[in-house]
Amino acid sequence: TAAAPMLEVQDLRTFYGAVEALKGVSLHVDRGEIVTLIGANGAGKSTLLMSLCGDPRARSGRVLLEGEDITAMPTHQIIRRGVAQSPEGRRIFPRMTVLENLIMGAQAMGHDPAPELERVFALFPRLNERQAQRGGTLSGGEQQMLAIGRALMSKPRLLLLDEPSLGLAPLIARQIFAAIKALNESEGLTVLLVEQNANQALRLAHRGYVLVTGRITMSGTGAELLARPEIRDAYLGGG
Ligand code: ATP
Repeated sequence: TAAAPMLEVQDLRTFYGAVEALKGVSLHVDRGEIVTLIGANGAGKSTLLMSLCGDPRARSGRVLLEGEDITAMPTHQIIRRGVAQSPEGRRIFPRMTVLENLIMGAQAMGHDPAPELERVFALFPRLNERQAQRGGTLSGGEQQMLAIGRALMSKPRLLLLDEPSLGLAPLIARQIFAAIKALNESEGLTVLLVEQNANQALRLAHRGYVLVTGRITMSGTGAELLARPEIRDAYLGGG
């Protein structure tokens, strides 16, 4: 329905064997929002993003995409419904070229990749210059651009980003965040962003949630969360 949020997560529980990685997570992302999920190592951030795509599958709870229940759908159907994920560690195909990697991102959709390619190259001119280069020989920042670009190739309604700044020099990380902001502002793309780089991520986000060992403990606007002493102490190095 028109009133339903882009993404609504209700009481999601995900296990690895006997380990409960998500202990009843509820959150929502409205259309056109950037929402950041921050949390320490092992809090369950990656598990949440992966559970939204059905792998690993949540044991209970619900995931609604614009009101449609996608909780039990196979991953490829979730992607077809407009959810794209840029995974942690930038799992690009190292032996394939930049261009081949990008084309792969459009394949699940079966549409003509040309218009999306143009958008991705406009957003990341560096990828345009390096179309013929193998993914594995790109710099860390370029690989991250490629991972995001590949996710964009499926024309997502909702982009899930797992630690896009991980391992990048500060200047490159800022460029990646600027690109995410530009996508959101120019196209209204809805983004759920997982980050340990809480400072920049909360500055970028309209709203944020804090995940602590599988539970949401706090939420608010990016500015509200940045101002909270407990966030500063735990995630911003006291600064
Ligand atoms: P990081 O930033 O370190 O990736 P995270 O917040 O993304 O952390 P997850 O990777 O989601 O956290 O891990 C959540 C919990 O689930 C951790 O305790 C982790 O050890 C556990 N876990 C993650 N993947 C598996 C797996 N494949 N098998 C068993 N346990 C797992």
